[in-house]
Amino acid sequence: MTVWVVVVAAGSGSRFGGPKQFAEIGGRPLVDWSVEAARCAADGVVLVVPADMARSPSPDTHGADVVVAGGVTRAASVRAGLDAVPPDARVIVVHDGARPLASGALFRAVVDAVSDGAAGAVPGLALSDTLKRVDDDGAVVSTVDRGRLMAVQTPQAFRADVLRRAHAAGGDATDDAGLVEAQGATVRVVPGDPRNVKVTTPADLAMARALVEA
Ligand code: C5P
Repeated sequence: MTVWVVVVAAGSGSRFGGPKQFAEIGGRPLVDWSVEAARCAADGVVLVVPADMARSPSPDTHGADVVVAGGVTRAASVRAGLDAVPPDARVIVVHDGARPLASGALFRAVVDAVSDGAAGAVPGLALSDTLKRVDDDGAVVSTVDRGRLMAVQTPQAFRADVLRRAHAAGGDATDDAGLVEAQGATVRVVPGDPRNVKVTTPADLAMARALVEA
């Protein structure tokens, strides 16, 4: 089955203080790590970058096959990437450029789950912290049962027709599985990887660097 990966890296990094996806780990931008891992499971990779970078006369591809301009929201950036994925792709994987330590094995695991018949597959981790629901003043309302909750990562793999249909409605969600679930399709969870940190703050970047050095 033909597999393409869309790596989204068009965020402004407001919580980081700049586009974190181009900060460096081991002398290479985060996004280069993400594209390299995606290659382990993909026939092709589309990289979605901020519009000014995509419009440069010779944009840096960071190792991807195609570079396109992103949108105002993450979902809009994914849609820009989907438009550049060839129609013969049967499985499409979406990955956050801000997760540089996703392994090739994790990409293969979500793709394998879809090849085996799932509509979608996402990496998930059990939660170790206790979760509280709070009110607007920060007072605890209740303790949430964490037994059936999972923290979900990217890469997320989907049957191409299912993902394209989920995005055709133009909705918004913090991940692609959210849009697919809203269509009533079943998304499976495969074991996630604690090393697959999302770089949101400078402290996350320091942690990712420490993990690479270790
Ligand atoms: O903002 P957040 O941390 O959830 O972003 C997750 C990923 O989505 C990042 O890799 C970011 O660059 C990307 N993104 C995007 N286009 C946007 C917003 C976020 O490609 N408009």
